[in-house]
Amino acid sequence: MDLERYQRQMLFAGLGLEGQRRLAAATVALIGVGATGSVLANALVRAGVGRLRIADRDYVELHNLQRQMLFDERDAGEGRPKAIAAAEKLRAVNSAVTIEPLVVDVNSETIDEVAHGADLLLDGSDNFEVRYLINDVCVERSIPWIYCGALASYGMTMNITPGGPCFRCIFPEAPAPGTAPTCDTAGVLGTAVGTVASIAASEAIKLLVGRGTPNPGLISIDVWELSFDVVSLGPPRPDCPACGQRNFAYLYGEAAARTTSLCGRDAVQVRPGGSSYIDLHELAGRLREAGVAQLRLTEHLLRFTVSGCELTVFPDARAIVKGTEDETYARTLYARWIGM
Ligand SMILES: [Zn+2]
Repeated sequence: MDLERYQRQMLFAGLGLEGQRRLAAATVALIGVGATGSVLANALVRAGVGRLRIADRDYVELHNLQRQMLFDERDAGEGRPKAIAAAEKLRAVNSAVTIEPLVVDVNSETIDEVAHGADLLLDGSDNFEVRYLINDVCVERSIPWIYCGALASYGMTMNITPGGPCFRCIFPEAPAPGTAPTCDTAGVLGTAVGTVASIAASEAIKLLVGRGTPNPGLISIDVWELSFDVVSLGPPRPDCPACGQRNFAYLYGEAAARTTSLCGRDAVQVRPGGSSYIDLHELAGRLREAGVAQLRLTEHLLRFTVSGCELTVFPDARAIVKGTEDETYARTLYARWIGM
């Protein structure tokens, strides 16, 4: 191992040569390489993690570049898969790191391929459903993971480690589809992403080398209000479905979202797991605020067009995405505009 490139961080007493060796021996799986994921991947590859697996279902668009720092105008112009574009950039930065891009929708069927052999999972995703899935697989298999999310001017991060409270102890239920803001409805500052994801990346390094003082709670930062809070967490909850009851509904499918291609209709049906009602009036209001024009709202459905696809949302939280037969793309649009 050529250690010369790491000389400045090995000089830092908290890490040292031993810490550097532990980093080089570690395998990390990153779920999602958008805004927070770009920061996490960049930090770990430059720091010299041994192996980084990057899973992402999306492709680069121009409006990503404001905050997704691994991508450039060429990636957006060609609509390259984020996992592939990220891997190429990161290999050019540090060829000593083994980088494994996976262009997949991370769900209960693909999570094994994503998580196998990993010492740590990192959340670069943008929705609760994937986080519950990560939580299920990590709690079941005693793998640590780090939650990280950013929206508007704020961000949150939390370490979930075996024996401690899990993500569902703290967030027992996902917000109902359509009720929580998303990056596409509330916006997001690149600096909020950079701040919270840098904290999460530091936590990842601490956990991998087994040194330093790990985050003991839920860190919440706001770069606009200039606040930094660490909310302490209680003990694991005995009634927690995941770590208390060991009922891994997101991993074993009972709560997994169901996506069905509607044959011959150039359309895909997306049905989110775990919820069965959506307030169409409220959703319509948020979409209008986000600049979505020509909404059609009736008592039975809400219809609107984004990114060349027509989405029809029903009160039971089901949506038909017309204009594509790509199930992954349909789920991406659902997560982005309706939220899951
Ligand atoms: Zn729990």
